[in-house]
Amino acid sequence: MSSESRASRYYDTEPARASRTVVRPTPLGTAVYETLLAQLISLKIAPGSRIAVDALVRELGVSQTPIRAALIRLEAEGLVVNTHNVGYSAAPMPSRDRFEQIYDMRLLIEPHTAMRAAQRMSAASREDLANMARAMAAPEEGDAKLAYGKFAMQDARFHARIAIESGNLLAAEALDRLYAHMHLFRLRFHSGVKDDAIQEHETLMQALLAGDGDAAGRAMTEHIERSRERMAPYFDLLD
Ligand SMILES: [Zn+2]
Repeated sequence: MSSESRASRYYDTEPARASRTVVRPTPLGTAVYETLLAQLISLKIAPGSRIAVDALVRELGVSQTPIRAALIRLEAEGLVVNTHNVGYSAAPMPSRDRFEQIYDMRLLIEPHTAMRAAQRMSAASREDLANMARAMAAPEEGDAKLAYGKFAMQDARFHARIAIESGNLLAAEALDRLYAHMHLFRLRFHSGVKDDAIQEHETLMQALLAGDGDAAGRAMTEHIERSRERMAPYFDLLD
């Protein structure tokens, strides 16, 4: 899938359009997707390890169809890779160097996309983004790791949408490729990460809704720097 179609796929999944253009996944499809997502986040499926469709058919007691659909979705989200002649495996974790490069790139791209989005977003887009932020802030019942994984996926869509709203699709595509290398949320899944990020999003949303480009850029810088600080200790443990 090209990065351009990935960027527009994020665009097409936002709530206002979903009701008329996107086919809703079946309850079984969603259940299989969420089961695999939870296994990837809890590292029950270890980074880099193979994912055998036949084994999942036996383990989950469902046919290949919903499993393949879930794997295609997880591949588009960058959590799973599909290699020719090998099949599916869990995406490997980034190295520390890669981690630093990803955050350096985010700090170059995203303050700019946030600033431009604040300056040029339509009223409808402002409302969509506010709805996305609200959905992320809503408390999730059940498995904490799964809730965290869903939050991370929503966060990626939120940032992708801001990049699209900047009007610079080259920046949106570059960010989309970066996110495909992230999967960083698998590193740390405690509720503090989510709570802090929600607060930072609120500050960012206020600037976006006010159309204040400078404040939006500053809020995005702050959010990415804080996110980097939250994730970095994982690599200290590895050294
Ligand atoms: Zn965020």
